[in-house]
Amino acid sequence: MVEGQIAVEEYKTENTEHTWDLKKIQSAHKILKKILYKKGQVTKGYADRTLYVNLSNNEISEKPVTDEMKKKFTGGRGFGLKLMWDSCKPSTRWDSPENELLITTGPLCGTTQYAGSGKSLCLSVSPSTNIICDCNVGGFFGPYMKFAGFDALEIQGKATKDVIVVIDGEKGSVSIETAPLEETNTHLLAEQLTRMYASEDTEKSRQKVSVVSSGLAAEHSFWGCLNFSFYDIRRKVPRIKQAGRGGLGTVLRDKKIKAVVVKVERFDGVSNHPADPVALAKVGTKLHKEIRDLDRYQCNMRAVGTGHLVEIMDAYDLLPTENYRFGSFPKASKIYSPKFYELFTKIIPDGCWYGCTMACSKTVDGYTVMTGPYKGQKVTVDGPEYETIGACSNMSLWDPLWILEFNFYCDTYGIDTISAGTSIAFYMEMYEYGILNKERCDGLELCFGNADAALELLHRIARGDSGEFIIVAAKGARRVKDWINQHGWGDKHLVEDTGMESKGLEFSEYVTKESLAMQGGYGLTLKGPQHDEAWLIFMDMVNNAIPTFQMKAEALHYFPMWRTWFGLNGLCKLPWNDVEPADNAQTSEPSKVPEHVQN
Ligand code: SF4
Repeated sequence: MVEGQIAVEEYKTENTEHTWDLKKIQSAHKILKKILYKKGQVTKGYADRTLYVNLSNNEISEKPVTDEMKKKFTGGRGFGLKLMWDSCKPSTRWDSPENELLITTGPLCGTTQYAGSGKSLCLSVSPSTNIICDCNVGGFFGPYMKFAGFDALEIQGKATKDVIVVIDGEKGSVSIETAPLEETNTHLLAEQLTRMYASEDTEKSRQKVSVVSSGLAAEHSFWGCLNFSFYDIRRKVPRIKQAGRGGLGTVLRDKKIKAVVVKVERFDGVSNHPADPVALAKVGTKLHKEIRDLDRYQCNMRAVGTGHLVEIMDAYDLLPTENYRFGSFPKASKIYSPKFYELFTKIIPDGCWYGCTMACSKTVDGYTVMTGPYKGQKVTVDGPEYETIGACSNMSLWDPLWILEFNFYCDTYGIDTISAGTSIAFYMEMYEYGILNKERCDGLELCFGNADAALELLHRIARGDSGEFIIVAAKGARRVKDWINQHGWGDKHLVEDTGMESKGLEFSEYVTKESLAMQGGYGLTLKGPQHDEAWLIFMDMVNNAIPTFQMKAEALHYFPMWRTWFGLNGLCKLPWNDVEPADNAQTSEPSKVPEHVQN
């Protein structure tokens, strides 16, 4: 056992326990359609078929993955775009029945020998932008879906009542079932369905189930996220990772899907049957060793997760504060990573898929909820990740406990912490200017730093409150700008400039005033201002690795293509560049981390 690790039998969270009658809840299911399929084997990273589900007519069918499809589109985001191209029309909008929700995997997804190989890609036409949005996400769902027999899941149509889609890789069946009695919010629903669909009442069986869900707020807002579960046998809870951006959870709930469940029969380190397992194991071992030896000196992500960025961003004037007005703040040290380290449960490994030595998925267990419907209950809070902490600094929230509160409710209500935080920060700045006020905000005093008001806004969105502001606020910064302008409140240009959105999607959490490269990255990213295609701020502002205009232009050409490669293959980007080989600085192009590109 690794030093510092707690044995499975030694740990128990103090979380509030639930005593549901799961048999009764499940007996209320009505099976609308069920098919049996022939189980197959994954070959060189592909199951060689995709699964199609139409909720309008309860069709369930398989589609082949051809060699041409693999050659042209690779997998992941590529497969998702191909399937959407085949099925959607130019007139398709986010809530059209033919809009699809896709969960896809790439050929490397499901590998356990190389760190970060569990990513799924999710795609749909976004409610925020009405263009296609893709998100990558960890958790067990993608690999399990592949081992159950499918490279992608394509859901079209809309159900008339709440349903769940169940892919049972043990029995070789797929079903659409009504699910009237289950909870909707993720922290409860994921636990109910994990226990319900586990073959036996054991931790090992629960570990073979993964659930995709959203929550009540996703039904009323454009910020809906998809939560992907991964069962943690030490904590004995399903934990979650988010496909956060663009409102894909809103699409899930618009289709009346409560959850998608996958169950895998068995899997091991070679279930992905890679083309060259010896080479994979060799580079994997080298990378594991590098992360284990160097992370503590370079990032310390194995201890504190992505939150290590907070102090760096603050030091370089890049941490968004008070709706991006400032890049650093005197109170920022209150939310530096050591503050969260004190709260994290120190159990390793904390990977969101097997074999990830980076293990950055941190968690706070036994957190006592301070507000809302779960007030007083003890829960597990996943994260907070850097982006969530940045969303809170943007609202001028400097108490780690309030950040956990915001993080917990965003997750369980199924909303994206980035879009919610950036939008609320904008509403707060409008409030400071007097363009919004208590009356216009349905009684909320949305000034900077008012955590109570920010949380109350989330609760009212989740409840489906009928206040005019609550309804429009839940649709994000773009719609609130239009609403303010329609009322003729304040200076139109000020309102337009203050709300940090582009194409309808809110900016992620970096101050880009002095980084032309990052601004370019935000501008060129297809789905809107998100950093996954071109996260250039660190190399531009912290490392000063691309100082000339030509170098920035080349980075804006190279990195979006290179980073997209991860989305085609099902790999996490963090193990590529967050920990670098010891001699990386001596290479000709350190920002590309050539040795890892070679891997
Ligand atoms: S680096 Fe973090 S997010 Fe990426 S796969 Fe590993 S644990 Fe998951």
